[in-house]
Amino acid sequence: MNRRNFCRTAVAAGVAAAYPLLGGCSRSEPPVATSADTSIRGISLGGLEIELERAAIRELGDAMTGPVILSGHPDYDGARMIWNGMHDKRPALIARCMNSRDVSSAVTFAAERNLLVAVRGGGHSWPGKSVCDDGLMIDLSQMHDVDIDIDKQRAHVGGGALLAHVDTASLEKGLVTTAGVVSHTGVGGFTLGGGFGRLNRKYGLAIDNLRSAEIVTADGQIRTVSDEQNSDLFWAIRGGGGNFGVVTSFEYQLHPFDRNVLSGSIVWPIDQVRDVLEFYAEWSAGLSDELYVGPTIATTPEGARVIMMDVVYNGDPATGEKELEALRKVGTPMADGVIVQDYVVMQTNLDAAFAHGVRSYAKNGMVKEWSQGLIDAIIDADDPRIFLANHVAGGAVKRVGELDTAFPHRNAEIMLVVVSGWMDPAQDEELIAASRAVYKAIEPHVGGYYDNIDFDGSGAARNYGPAYDRLTKIKAQYDAGNLFRLNSNIEPA
Ligand SMILES: Cc1cc2nc3c(=O)[nH]c(=O)nc-3n(C[C@H](O)[C@H](O)[C@H](O)COP(=O)(O)OP(=O)(O)OC[C@H]3O[C@@H](n4cnc5c(N)ncnc54)[C@H](O)[C@@H]3O)c2cc1C
Repeated sequence: MNRRNFCRTAVAAGVAAAYPLLGGCSRSEPPVATSADTSIRGISLGGLEIELERAAIRELGDAMTGPVILSGHPDYDGARMIWNGMHDKRPALIARCMNSRDVSSAVTFAAERNLLVAVRGGGHSWPGKSVCDDGLMIDLSQMHDVDIDIDKQRAHVGGGALLAHVDTASLEKGLVTTAGVVSHTGVGGFTLGGGFGRLNRKYGLAIDNLRSAEIVTADGQIRTVSDEQNSDLFWAIRGGGGNFGVVTSFEYQLHPFDRNVLSGSIVWPIDQVRDVLEFYAEWSAGLSDELYVGPTIATTPEGARVIMMDVVYNGDPATGEKELEALRKVGTPMADGVIVQDYVVMQTNLDAAFAHGVRSYAKNGMVKEWSQGLIDAIIDADDPRIFLANHVAGGAVKRVGELDTAFPHRNAEIMLVVVSGWMDPAQDEELIAASRAVYKAIEPHVGGYYDNIDFDGSGAARNYGPAYDRLTKIKAQYDAGNLFRLNSNIEPA
């Protein structure tokens, strides 16, 4: 049997081991759908093996502007790898979409065949929901255009853009919206889950700045959602994650902004952690919306364990200096790097620490109120292998009604995030266990978690609280077959 026929025969017979061989079959052109010369093994939504016929794959390739990449293509490995190095999965097909019509073609292809679908925005899903084995990966990474309307103070952003794309384009025009703290995170998952950032006390979460979106639903239709159009769906995507379709474009409210902000970190040695946390617990309750400040416990590259306060003051620096005075008097800081500097310095200062390919685990809990018990737990459970980070909430985040959007944690003051990162797979077990131990210690003092920063999360029903019922009904209306299930899944009512 010649090599090409072997490949065809093996796949037709559904032999699992043949799948990796497909890429090795000699071809005169790189394996994209339009040149598919064999059927491919796929996997159904229910986990059954299905055959994806060659003609259908070619048809999908013909219908799309972007390529449909198969195993063996030079771009295949780059496209399937996501941020967290823990996830090494091999989709049967990667539909690299260039526009909403491409997304619609890909969604229809999957829906007609009951094929498992993963949607990749920026690829930062901690639990790896944006990639799958043997299914279709809808890759939005090329849809990253940002158009700024200066008069209306709005940004139209492609569904696969990164936060850096939004910050860069907006700041150039003297405008800004809430974006997260690592600039290579995708707007897609970030926004659909809520979207915390250093300006949220003043402007609210990313979803609070969302004015409309374009979404491809499970029936392949391209819909606009806003307060005026498909308002139920608009409500659901503001916190309900990728459950309702593929968002191909987001429209955000922008705000006039002076990018030179009082910002940076104040650092204390870990032996002052109690003084710093006890002060912060009281002081932070009365802060202005302009001031974003939260505690982080980390180990420096030199090996010193420290407690830090990360600061961004979104207003007149002189007023910010006054508001910070009391914090600066706590204990004896070993460094104070809070100065007036470009906002982008803060927005990119964690990019390298959270570089692509790191193996990482994260859990978080929402804190409604600081308590002595929480402070004691943080100190007692401290582990130098763990990064205790935070996202400060309160302010404008808290002023939005609990059920005005699908985001469930409006009443929290801060989110505490337990994160670990390592490179060697041999350390997986040890570091996951260490992270879980720290989280377990603080768990009695937190209420609910932010789904976007959770490696294990599978408690959508509990986490969404009173919003869950409405979410299941909207899910049933737009995705009764649960095509979009690789997310914190909301089951159709
Ligand atoms: C290093 C790092 C820093 C982070 N910092 C912050 C932060 O500051 N604030 C914060 O709130 N969160 C933060 N997060 C969490 C982040 O919001 C989530 O990981 C989010 O899911 C990332 O979105 P993504 O598009 O990059 O992810 P992806 O892995 O591409 O997708 C995540 C989920 O969203 C779905 N999805 C993505 N795009 C779309 C789309 N356009 N349409 C429909 N579904 C889509 C995917 O199917 C998947 O289920 C951070 C995460 C990491 C890894």
